[in-house]
Amino acid sequence: MIAERVDFLVIGSGVAGLRAAFEAAEAGSVYVITKDTLKESSTEYAQGGVAVALCDEDTIGIHFEDTIKAGDGLCIDEAVHTLVNEGPERIMELISWGAEFDKSDSRLIFTLEAAHSRRRILHAHGDSTGREIERVLIKKAMSMPQIKKYSFAYFLDLIVFDGQCYGAYMLRDGQVTAVLAGATILATGGAGQVYSRTTNPQVATGDGMAAAYRAGAEMSDMEFVQFHPTSLYASGAPQFLISEALRGEGAVIRNIHKEKFMGLYHIDAELATRDVVARAIVSEMTRTGSHYVYLDITHLDKEYIKNRFPRIYKTCLKYDIDITTELIPVSPAAHYMMGGVMTDIDGRTNIKGLYAAGEVACTGVHGANRLASNSLLEGLVFGARAGSTAVKEQADLKDINPELALTVTQDHIENPDEIRSTIRRVMWEKVGIIRSAASLHEALDVFTTLSHVTAHTYLTRYENEIKNILQTAQLIVQSAIERKDSIGAHYRSD
Ligand SMILES: Cc1cc2nc3c(=O)[nH]c(=O)nc-3n(C[C@H](O)[C@H](O)[C@H](O)COP(=O)(O)OP(=O)(O)OC[C@H]3O[C@@H](n4cnc5c(N)ncnc54)[C@H](O)[C@@H]3O)c2cc1C
Repeated sequence: MIAERVDFLVIGSGVAGLRAAFEAAEAGSVYVITKDTLKESSTEYAQGGVAVALCDEDTIGIHFEDTIKAGDGLCIDEAVHTLVNEGPERIMELISWGAEFDKSDSRLIFTLEAAHSRRRILHAHGDSTGREIERVLIKKAMSMPQIKKYSFAYFLDLIVFDGQCYGAYMLRDGQVTAVLAGATILATGGAGQVYSRTTNPQVATGDGMAAAYRAGAEMSDMEFVQFHPTSLYASGAPQFLISEALRGEGAVIRNIHKEKFMGLYHIDAELATRDVVARAIVSEMTRTGSHYVYLDITHLDKEYIKNRFPRIYKTCLKYDIDITTELIPVSPAAHYMMGGVMTDIDGRTNIKGLYAAGEVACTGVHGANRLASNSLLEGLVFGARAGSTAVKEQADLKDINPELALTVTQDHIENPDEIRSTIRRVMWEKVGIIRSAASLHEALDVFTTLSHVTAHTYLTRYENEIKNILQTAQLIVQSAIERKDSIGAHYRSD
């Protein structure tokens, strides 16, 4: 097996990975490996914005309170303090690197989203906030020669020896390389693809969570999956996210009879937390025997809608829905993983030399339910912290001589498409917005019959992704079985 050495290995090129890489690059050589193009990530698709207490009417204390309230009592105070306190500095830094957030007369514009008590969401090009952040981070990474970027480099597994992480195995052009590193930062994002209905891009297959678990990392809060209430539901269309910001700007939800109903379910109506809105929609869909509800923004000025939400306007128009005059058919979809690899606020995991940041990690900042638009900020704040901790604690490269032991099978998974589809459908039907002991055990039984898939490492990205989807699904189900009460995004009908 080929082996290479580098001071710092960063796995993933979304907001958390790139921000971590900048810290590491101050102290040594860095590899950023990513399984697709550099920009392909959830970060690239984030629409609504980034929450930060920078507006005159807002304070860090109020942002803290709103985050804690959304988390339903399960947030870790120290993590939330860190997020809201360091958020403004990370955003100002991003602006100094060239990020163009939307402004009016040279003043930043802040919008409102569900469960925020103040207008604190910055956005870019209307509804392309993540794309703007990713553009700026990639541009900066390109200007740093000490950061080597490897696209289409698939991370297979961590190299862990005697309780310490020494890097990772990478699959590129059909060849496995052991990348030995003084410190390894996992920033592989979320796992939305575990579900058949998801807003997440194809890359979000839970690879980092599954691999960290295999290596002995402690996992936390895996039962807490956030379902976004409003993804596009139109024939032939992808499950494109229709941002919360539409409701922040006054959009209302109607059932198939075009009646408003959110006020009957919660006092905050359309601006209640995502779990509440998603469950209300499911109840209303069941009551009316429909697979979708409508989002209605037609009462706003046509030109305003086009300028404020250009990406959503154009995407819906592609599927013959003019959002300025027509109702948008929507239904919930899996969107964000609150749980993941357990870390402290400096990105440390329980495995020495392994750090994690962003959606793959669980710092406790989101508790049982993430406050909308807190995750881009999380990537910036905790990405930077994980990077600087790795710098302080990196192992000396000359001391790194682990036993390399990875067996890759030449065999293939039989019927891979069918297995992938079965796992994702079972997750949606049995481990979705509403779960019960019976449905969770049914899911577990199906997954047990597929466990042969997880016994090998494969020579293709697709097959390894199926293995990781299955292992991540099993982690979610097992955690959901253990948490018998309903809290936040985890709702048990029994
Ligand atoms: C449609 C959509 C809209 C959203 N809107 C918002 C919003 O408005 N505001 C907000 O705060 N949050 C939003 N979110 C959530 C937010 O975008 C993500 O939580 C955040 O961007 C995650 O950043 P990350 O760096 O942890 O992961 P990502 O940005 O997903 O990056 C993960 C990286 O890891 C790579 N990777 C994964 N597995 C492997 C592997 N095996 N080998 C090599 N590389 C790998 C991926 O290719 C990618 O480069 C949205 C998410 C989606 C999907």
